[in-house]
Amino acid sequence: MRTPEHRPRAWFRQRGYLFLADDANAERFERRYERQRALGARVERLDVDAIRTRVPDLFLDDVRFGVFGPDDGYANPREVLAGFRHAAAAAGATYITGEVSRLEVTGGRIRGVTLDGGVTLDARAVVNAAGPFAAKLAALADLDLPVTPVRQHLFRCALPHRWPYRFPVVIDPGGVHWRHDDPVAPGDPDRIIVACTRLDEPAGENFACDADRWTTDFRPPLVARLPAFEAAELVEGWAGLYEMTPDHNPLLGEHPELAGFHLANGFSGHGLMMAPATGAALAELLMTGASARLEIGAFDPGRFARGEEFRDDAMI
Ligand SMILES: Cc1cc2nc3c(=O)[nH]c(=O)nc-3n(C[C@H](O)[C@H](O)[C@H](O)COP(=O)(O)OP(=O)(O)OC[C@H]3O[C@@H](n4cnc5c(N)ncnc54)[C@H](O)[C@@H]3O)c2cc1C
Repeated sequence: MRTPEHRPRAWFRQRGYLFLADDANAERFERRYERQRALGARVERLDVDAIRTRVPDLFLDDVRFGVFGPDDGYANPREVLAGFRHAAAAAGATYITGEVSRLEVTGGRIRGVTLDGGVTLDARAVVNAAGPFAAKLAALADLDLPVTPVRQHLFRCALPHRWPYRFPVVIDPGGVHWRHDDPVAPGDPDRIIVACTRLDEPAGENFACDADRWTTDFRPPLVARLPAFEAAELVEGWAGLYEMTPDHNPLLGEHPELAGFHLANGFSGHGLMMAPATGAALAELLMTGASARLEIGAFDPGRFARGEEFRDDAMI
């Protein structure tokens, strides 16, 4: 993504994802591990001693094994986005800022979009990439999209000292998970970012951070799993929106009821990971009429109407 004007710095840290399996989810993880290996993913089954070697401070009495993806990692999403954006501009893409307030449709085909300032942009193809607002955008053409905004919290904590090793993303069987938030400048504290999905979170465009959740749902399982985090200090919390579909997998491809209207929606909280492949698949689809390099049939937007869910049980 490097261009003469812009050198992206994604802060990609390839430290792996480590899922911990206990009695309750061991069978599910065993199945997932076998399937991932069968499909050629690089994934390791770690016994408790091997987990302890990687993350020595974990409480592991209730853990049966771990599933570790050594190629996985985390990155700064803003920097990744800036990298894509600059590289696309260098390749000739033009960016126009404005809110789409109307979808122009005639004869069952999309013809363009109108922005809130009144400017209409004609187009043979339009891609809905509106994230948690995808259903709102589609509703402008009276289309019902099964994508719901659901609030997701994150909390950042300062560790009491520089931790002697770096964490992979550790996912506790109960759902709490964390990763390192490394110092960027000299003197910055060593920090972690903690998440814990609330499965009964009501849908809605709610960005309010409920700070009490740190003490009620996040901190207790975090400290139980890694007792030395007792001394970690809360720095801040915030909330964003997941863009959930009924099976936690995206909608990729042309809308079945509106020719030319393409969907790249519903990533259900894992859209950063899927972004490069999504871009590649959609670009090929738009240019040639098919995504030949990447098989995206399972993400067909019409699958719910046909009763063919493609469930992802790894959403965290
Ligand atoms: C707290 C949190 C943690 C997450 N953690 C991870 C993670 O660890 N890994 C991972 O892979 N993913 C993660 N995600 C999910 C990831 O951020 C999303 O899946 C991803 O950002 C989706 O990208 P997108 O481009 O489809 O949509 P977005 O990034 O949401 O962008 C949509 C854009 O469309 C614009 N828009 C909307 N409506 C209109 C309109 N009418 N007119 C013009 N513009 C419009 C919006 O302003 C926005 O700029 C997380 C999300 C949250 C909230």
